[in-house]
Amino acid sequence: MSTSSHIAVFAFPFGTHTAPLLDLVQRLAASAPDVKFSFFSTSESNSLIFSGSKADDLGNIKAYNVSDGIPDGHIFGGNQHLEAVGLFIKATPDNFVKVVKEAEEDAGVKISCLVTDAFLWFACDLAEEIGVPWIPFWTAASSSLSAHLYTDEIRREIATSERSEQTLALIPGLQGLNINDLPNEVLMDSQESPLAHMLYNMALKLPKATAVVLNSFEEIDPAITTDLKSMLKKFLNIGPSPLLAAASKKPPSADKDECLSWLEKQNNASVVYISFGTVISPPPDEIVALANALETCEVPFLWSLKDHAKKHLPEGFIDRARNNNGKFVTWAPQVRVLEHGAVGVFVTHCGWNSILESISFGVPLICRPFFGDQKLNSRMVQDGWKIGLKVDGGVFTKSGTINAIQYILSSDKGKAISENVRVLKEKALDAVKPNGSSTRNFQELIEIVTKSPVQ
Ligand code: UDP
Repeated sequence: MSTSSHIAVFAFPFGTHTAPLLDLVQRLAASAPDVKFSFFSTSESNSLIFSGSKADDLGNIKAYNVSDGIPDGHIFGGNQHLEAVGLFIKATPDNFVKVVKEAEEDAGVKISCLVTDAFLWFACDLAEEIGVPWIPFWTAASSSLSAHLYTDEIRREIATSERSEQTLALIPGLQGLNINDLPNEVLMDSQESPLAHMLYNMALKLPKATAVVLNSFEEIDPAITTDLKSMLKKFLNIGPSPLLAAASKKPPSADKDECLSWLEKQNNASVVYISFGTVISPPPDEIVALANALETCEVPFLWSLKDHAKKHLPEGFIDRARNNNGKFVTWAPQVRVLEHGAVGVFVTHCGWNSILESISFGVPLICRPFFGDQKLNSRMVQDGWKIGLKVDGGVFTKSGTINAIQYILSSDKGKAISENVRVLKEKALDAVKPNGSSTRNFQELIEIVTKSPVQ
């Protein structure tokens, strides 16, 4: 029997949840080389995130596939993403539990700690049952975590006042925000959707967790940090991961379309970088509005756009863009792009990874949020941290997008926004210094993980 600890890591294989979890595990694995890490996700997600890794890179991490819950021959209806999420949720926890036994046999040691995506609340009961710590990883911002933890209070408040006038006065650090900025799942009846049900249960379980971990830094929202420290047993911000790439031993992401050499040819802080993450594609009329705005502003741009969405661009736009300093790719090495001084603004859907990457390299944002925590993130960007703008009316129109681009790139108020994001970036850099808050929190996390009792 092995005497080393054995950590089971459970991933939620949708959106960009798995990559930051693997980042965290790679950092832990590098700091605790004697500890075994078994990483559980669906085969599709595992083959994607482990595709660039050689066996040597993985060291003490081993991947295991769990069922995605999609029945053989299943035909998807309208919203394939949501349906796949629902089927996966239905398959939990059995799909994970089944494979844990296999990992325990391989490792020759039982699980001594569960590190999971916070969404997978069933891990709280499982950890209790087997007597090990549960460490949920919240892959978004502290503001949305707070919104979920206050779900019951928010719902009670809603029941008693006009929705359009409701602010989040009761939540420390979110007082200036409106109920309409919240993720829909906070407001939905938990029985309405598997995701809403999952998030509601998560909020009930998180206060029992040994520690809740975030890819963020405490200084970004001091009031929320203080409040969450009082609600949770331990609240450990250990990021931002883009500033810790060396610690996770991750090779830099590939640049097959040569975005970086293209950026080298551009002026400092002049380029509009556009990406909507891994799930979203804006509606066709908004793609047209955004393209027309770029053309009118005559700014250089780098647009990460999925092939299937290119057909919505205005006639001849791709050819004209090529001549006018515009570049399309289907996937950009985003972290390296944002790190490049030529990027002046990031047009984003406001997924947390994108926002954190932008803050890490001091790039102001133009926000067009779609679902989940994105509206809340965009509100924080504009009114909380004042590091960007939400597009007028919340959707891309030609004039609204032109205004936003010109505001950020060429107005005095835009300069103030750039200064704010520079200051926030400095705070992030301080957090990951040797005695910074994130470094200390990570040390504490290693203590918990490595000291977990070998079963
Ligand atoms: N990303 C990238 N290249 C692209 C588009 C996205 O590297 O062309 C990465 C980006 O750096 C980020 C992630 O994909 O880490 C998107 O995560 P986010 O949380 O912003 O959005 P989601 O994919 O969850 O909607």
